[in-house]
Amino acid sequence: MTVTEVSACAYKIPTDRPEADGTLAWDATIMVVVTVGDGHDLGLGWTYAGAGAVAVITDLLAPAVIGTDTSEIPRSAETMARACRNLGRPGLVASAISAVDVALWDLRARQLGVALVDLFGRARDTVPVYGSGGFTTYDDSTTETQLATWVDDWSIPRVKIKIGESWGAEPARDLHRVALARRVIGEAELYVDANGGYTAKEALRLGRAMSDDHDVRWFEEPVSSDDLAGLARVRSGFRADVAAGEYGYTLDYFSKMLDAGAVDCLQADVTRCGGYSVWREVAALADANHLQISGHCAPNIHAHVAASVPNLRHVEYFHDHHRIETMLFDGTLPPNGGAMIPDRTRPGHGMSFRVTVAEPYRIA
Ligand SMILES: [Mg+2]
Repeated sequence: MTVTEVSACAYKIPTDRPEADGTLAWDATIMVVVTVGDGHDLGLGWTYAGAGAVAVITDLLAPAVIGTDTSEIPRSAETMARACRNLGRPGLVASAISAVDVALWDLRARQLGVALVDLFGRARDTVPVYGSGGFTTYDDSTTETQLATWVDDWSIPRVKIKIGESWGAEPARDLHRVALARRVIGEAELYVDANGGYTAKEALRLGRAMSDDHDVRWFEEPVSSDDLAGLARVRSGFRADVAAGEYGYTLDYFSKMLDAGAVDCLQADVTRCGGYSVWREVAALADANHLQISGHCAPNIHAHVAASVPNLRHVEYFHDHHRIETMLFDGTLPPNGGAMIPDRTRPGHGMSFRVTVAEPYRIA
């Protein structure tokens, strides 16, 4: 069947309170939602990116995929990438491509009347998640409440907080918040994410302290993910796993990260890397390096594809995206018990967009 329509809109949703990590602060999240259709069924995709992605989709990607057959998504993925050559693929363009790719796969699965995980092929029935938030802007009581909700109320056995506050200028407060988190979560696994806020020496010092004193198991972007040699160096200096990959927009990026020996677990984001088409290739790259893959943010969009790869570690159940996705979509998956269970009774990824709920937030 032929793709006959592609549309895209951008929505700006305020955060529930000010949010910041080690290297960025924000008070709203922009989501670009894509719909593709064949005149009968509709496929739905989205990305968390700038509103400029709407123009990329309308001007370049829609002409590339309208008229293609829905059974030739790998060909469409290549056509979209080639159409954007002169804009440069990493960043906004790759995010736009990702949203369209997800919508195309969703449409194909709906045409066939199968869940996406059954179209890809199942490797597992459940998708482990970790609670993610713990922003540096939170006071202790807000952090405690959030962590207790995940671990005690939702029974998620692994959580992550942000550190590296103010580009690594507040290491004492970072360690205080890590100690606080450990007290609140008991035996649950504790992860931290510096978003590239530390120098290599700072990361080594804090990584050792957090691993040894608070049993931190996962140290994400201890230094900039552009510093592959730095990641590889600090990785060998403490017990926690080093993870990175959230800014991967092309397959080449992940290949170079793996070749550098930079990570213990590779992260990839469906809404940035090129959609389901590329995410599955990234998982295979990680597998060829005997590593696991972890889905970055946008938990509901990852569930089915994550269940289709054997070397999955988990998916990030990010506070901000959880809030937005449960508000704007029907069919989202609860993280209770520490795992999402893809619903195989619903075609595609199983979600539908609440257009009227989203309308007040529309900016493009
Ligand atoms: Mg991160």
